[in-house]
Amino acid sequence: MNKTIYFDKCLREITVRNDLVTAILFFEVVPYHENCYAKDLKGVKTLFLDNQPINGFSGNFVTLLAILFCIGCFFYEPMKYLSIIAIIQIIYRLYSYFVFERHIEK
Ligand SMILES: [Zn+2]
Repeated sequence: MNKTIYFDKCLREITVRNDLVTAILFFEVVPYHENCYAKDLKGVKTLFLDNQPINGFSGNFVTLLAILFCIGCFFYEPMKYLSIIAIIQIIYRLYSYFVFERHIEK
């Protein structure tokens, strides 16, 4: 299945996975061109835009930590409630992959 991903602001198609940055804007996962993301980070939206991309190396690293954290919480009861934050991170990562990344060629 192929879906065309458009970025809501510049309206150009995102065709290469390397050019795709997904980030959280107001609790919603939004796709960006790498350049547009950098531009928006410096703009007004920076108040609502998470400066930590969901995809790419750093995003994957954070997700890996979140998974390890969840496993840790399994063994250490008092941390149980903190694991919710980690689970949210994992859900965002999966959402980003299934909704955007998987439709774009590497
Ligand atoms: Zn763009």
